[in-house]
Amino acid sequence: MRRAAALAPILAALALPATAGAEPLLYGCNFDRETLSFAGTPVEQAACLLRKVGPLGVKHDQPLPPLFRRLLAAPGAPGPGARARAMAALPQPYRAYAEAHAADPAARTAAGLPLAYFVIHDTSTPLLGAAPFPRWLDRDALVNDFTPYIVPQPVAHIFLSRWGQIWAGHDLAEPWRATKLESRVVGPASRGRFVHIETIQPRRFIAGTHSEESTEGPRPGFSKAQYRMLAALYVYFSGRAGHWLIPAQHATVDDGIPQAHDDPQNFSVERFAREVGKLVSADQPRP
Ligand SMILES: [Zn+2]
Repeated sequence: MRRAAALAPILAALALPATAGAEPLLYGCNFDRETLSFAGTPVEQAACLLRKVGPLGVKHDQPLPPLFRRLLAAPGAPGPGARARAMAALPQPYRAYAEAHAADPAARTAAGLPLAYFVIHDTSTPLLGAAPFPRWLDRDALVNDFTPYIVPQPVAHIFLSRWGQIWAGHDLAEPWRATKLESRVVGPASRGRFVHIETIQPRRFIAGTHSEESTEGPRPGFSKAQYRMLAALYVYFSGRAGHWLIPAQHATVDDGIPQAHDDPQNFSVERFAREVGKLVSADQPRP
């Protein structure tokens, strides 16, 4: 969610001036203001947007799981079986809400472009300072409390606790923003192109430091329940959008923007793909 990258002085050199107009942006995955898309095919975009996000937001290439390569290679959407399995996997009371709204449309931009990007965040809160992470992190009541996120304008569409509970800040039909690319670079025209999932993950100071700009998440970063719920939400939201969304991460969406956040930390794209695969495998013939 938050966290300022320590590389800001270097990255600032990559930022475009405010007068860039309709020219393509030079940020990490080359977002185009006109098409409101990153550069390349959906598979190429996913490969860029799912690069490994390391400590302090440093990105590294990593293989795109074959599942996403297959889902995004051609136009397609989750089948009825996958959608039903995804909804059945969601926890109550959100499951009842999701089922009631399963046929509702997803957000669109003001210009009519459809929802396209499923953006994974970690909340980066609570910040524990120099204290160690709680031993039973996934059950810790303070860490998993939704209360700090229930503000007049929640920052994301979905908040996901470490034991898999879901609190919705905005319906999928509501165009919303949670990245600097949307709020500070492109502006309101981009709203409706991205759906944002905040997964609860605390931070602490990296050993030997005492700065909010040099924090680390727990390892492993995401709980098993969070991978399961991320997969269910990915399939459910893709179903409502009518096409497979392109998975992305906050730090790769905002790559190259000064003061960009460094979340999600310790996210395994392989584990995410494995959970999505469990929901779609019966509907997707293997090549
Ligand atoms: Zn974030």
